[in-house]
Amino acid sequence: MRFGFDIDDTLIDLRGHALSIYNRKLKKEIEASALQQLNTLEIHSLYDLTDDEGFKMWNQHQEEIFFTNCKAFPGALELLQKLAAMGHEIFYITARDADYCQQTKAWMKQFGFPIEEGHFFCGMKDHEKVNIIKDLQLDYYVDDKPQILHTLKETKVTCFLKDQSYNQEACDWERIKDWQVYLRNIDQ
Ligand SMILES: [Mg+2]
Repeated sequence: MRFGFDIDDTLIDLRGHALSIYNRKLKKEIEASALQQLNTLEIHSLYDLTDDEGFKMWNQHQEEIFFTNCKAFPGALELLQKLAAMGHEIFYITARDADYCQQTKAWMKQFGFPIEEGHFFCGMKDHEKVNIIKDLQLDYYVDDKPQILHTLKETKVTCFLKDQSYNQEACDWERIKDWQVYLRNIDQ
């Protein structure tokens, strides 16, 4: 089978990692639990920043957010390793800027994610992911953004939505709340 995954906030907890960096930079102590109440992907409103200030904050610290010690969601890394070991093909499709492509790939590899040559795609806009996913003829695709999964509605790809506080209104896809459940299921 051919499995495709978004990276940020699907496999790794980038939003939670950004929160810890913002806390340090802005000398605040916003609890991680505050993210569960927030219905936006962007976190700057927790710091009373305007959208413009939030945009600048993100851009200024983007590299640190991307390439330091962000954690994978429990079970995600192990599940992908297991799928690869079982002979399935794993593809990564991330909207991270093309300038960050090689560094992101290297960071993911170092983390232990199984990455084959030619299986890593970066730098497309959200609405362009559909073209890559169609070309790859994926069987399964997982993303945290419902708007991306919507673009795949006319395809044969079976989509899953990574459960997040900002996508609670979407109800068209099975939600992945806990990667460990899927890990246990394929172990059986
Ligand atoms: Mg994402």
